[in-house]
Amino acid sequence: MTGRETIHCPYCQGELKPYDRRKRVLLDHNGKRWVFSLRRLRCQKCKRMHIELPDIFIPYKRYSAAVIESVIEEKTSGAPYEERTRQKICSWYRRVKSHLLGVWQQQVKLGLASPGFIPHLVSLVRAAVNSGNWLYHPFGRFHYAFSPL
Ligand SMILES: [Zn+2]
Repeated sequence: MTGRETIHCPYCQGELKPYDRRKRVLLDHNGKRWVFSLRRLRCQKCKRMHIELPDIFIPYKRYSAAVIESVIEEKTSGAPYEERTRQKICSWYRRVKSHLLGVWQQQVKLGLASPGFIPHLVSLVRAAVNSGNWLYHPFGRFHYAFSPL
């Protein structure tokens, strides 16, 4: 998984340069593990490290974006079988939803997102991460940036 286009730092708009690679594991709805080797990028200006995420990832989530979306949208297929897992995902979404929608509205006001477009989870998460508005875990060691579309 690599992108060749330049991504800018979500915090300072500095240029991100490839540094090394980190393995990240994603679980699908059956709990099968998929290992990805993702680029770690270093901001030339503020020196923060960012892991470059393809759209199938949600920062700090073990399940793929598709699985999380299935749970949130209460789809019968594509969600994990275990109820506890589904509940955990739903409670996470309840906590972050208003923040994500707030960031989205801000992006619309700035002309960075289209007002007519109804965002789904991946768009909301992507907008929050790439604008530096993601709610990072206070002890999180990594920052993230989504690769260009
Ligand atoms: Zn930076």
